[in-house]
Amino acid sequence: MNFEIMRRKMVQDQIVSRGIRDRRVIDAMLRIPRHIFVQEAFAAQAYNDKALPIGEKQTISQPYVVALMTEKLALTGTEKVLEIGTGSGYQTALLATLADRVFSAERIRPLALRARKCLDSLKLFNVQLRINDNEGSPIGWEEEAPFDAVIVTAGAPEVPTILTDQLAKGGRLVIPVGTDSEQQLLIIVKDEAGDLLYEPSVMCRFVPLIGRQGWQA
Ligand code: SAH
Repeated sequence: MNFEIMRRKMVQDQIVSRGIRDRRVIDAMLRIPRHIFVQEAFAAQAYNDKALPIGEKQTISQPYVVALMTEKLALTGTEKVLEIGTGSGYQTALLATLADRVFSAERIRPLALRARKCLDSLKLFNVQLRINDNEGSPIGWEEEAPFDAVIVTAGAPEVPTILTDQLAKGGRLVIPVGTDSEQQLLIIVKDEAGDLLYEPSVMCRFVPLIGRQGWQA
């Protein structure tokens, strides 16, 4: 199986042809081997146009959705980024390639441990992972705030104020918001005055964000 050819085809057919234009995002998706982030049984499907199971009832997002969310963060390479929902670590690897430092939180320990191994194997050492498996623990990473970019890769019932509070001025938050079966991707920009501007994007379907300002476990 030639994963590199499959990856190039994925980027052309699913990412570039659907309008993703950020050259850095495209290059990062050409570089990061998505197949190492899925379970071995799914490696042959890793470049398909769909989400896949990663165990623990969670999923790795569809490549196009990953690309779109990443592009919406408008990263230039200098940013401090917060990710909620490490999952497989694939999105984390892209962020680590495109930003300065990445802080990623995951509530399911075995997923975080596997993601750590994958990130280490790619020598992406600018990532700090945190396991938030205590049901009462707040969403976010207050000690490291503020962040230039925040990405939530699980669906929330509303925009958690705990996350907009952790956003730097000029920073961007990308989050799916809606019901447990369908959400709208929202891009929220905090302007220099500290006001929040909302840009709605596509409809999508994510596993639930669990926690105090998310869904109940
Ligand atoms: N970006 C990941 C998406 C994984 S699915 C990938 O492409 O692989 C979303 C993840 O969010 C799940 O692993 C789930 O356990 C995690 N999650 C849900 N609520 C969370 C919370 N409050 N804090 C951290 N992680 C959370």
